Amino acid sequence: MGNRLKDKVAIITGAAKGIGFATAQRFAQEGAKVIITDINQEAVIEAVAQTPNAEGFTMNVMDRASIQAAIDQVMQKHGRIDILINNAGITQDARLIKMTEAQFDAVIDVNLKGVFNCTQLVVPHMLEAKSGAVVNASSVVGIYGNFGQTNYSATKFGVIGFTKTWARELGPKGIRVNAVCPGFIATEMVKTMPEKILQDIKRRSWLGRLGAPAEMANVYLFLASDEASYINGVALEASGGISL
Ligand code: NAD
Repeated sequence: MGNRLKDKVAIITGAAKGIGFATAQRFAQEGAKVIITDINQEAVIEAVAQTPNAEGFTMNVMDRASIQAAIDQVMQKHGRIDILINNAGITQDARLIKMTEAQFDAVIDVNLKGVFNCTQLVVPHMLEAKSGAVVNASSVVGIYGNFGQTNYSATKFGVIGFTKTWARELGPKGIRVNAVCPGFIATEMVKTMPEKILQDIKRRSWLGRLGAPAEMANVYLFLASDEASYINGVALEASGGISL
């Protein structure tokens, strides 16, 4: 237990599972009021039950009405939003030649437009407070690309574009915007990858293993906290050095 986020109100998207859930738990340990949002209603209920000082909302980052409803309730109760973690994301992998238009659109809608939707709706409250921190989920795939991930890698490059643009637009108003670029982290998203590819990833990573969700939560914690008060517009790779 610490107080690195004492009394900060933090909205995390896709927070019912994986990295988002680990981040919610880590933020709660550091004294934040954690708003767990996710499209998966049952998982939200479970996650809230396991996280101290947390509230939950069923929220789809593609549905602006559901985002606005959650924000309105948070503002009514707490009067402010200090931190937004844009973590929700999906994969639908296929090689370029085989990728369907539906696969392409689904990933763009969640990973790219979802980040735009949430940030655009939360930021007015941060502007009013003249302070805030936004941290976006990019990926090493958003720096280097990846076989079979035309749609996903485009969104993760795009998230870095958002990050650097918003860091310029919002920095002067007291709002910092950064991105995390995880390598391969042991969550459900990665478990869907073929075993042979997973073995290859472990071999290529200089730490010889996948990352843990809690290790990514620490990176979100740092960038969202006042310890990172002079960090704005970075895309911080946390991958065990897989790209070296
Ligand atoms: P995960 O699949 O374990 O969890 C993602 C969560 O997002 C789920 O609870 C899911 O219900 C929720 N979600 C999906 N669509 C949603 C929507 N439309 N609205 C709201 N919530 C939605 O994934 P994860 O591995 O924890 O990944 C989290 C983020 O980190 C993603 O943006 C992912 O792209 C990124 N990332 C993950 C890895 C990795 O190796 N796991 C690597 C790099 C980046």
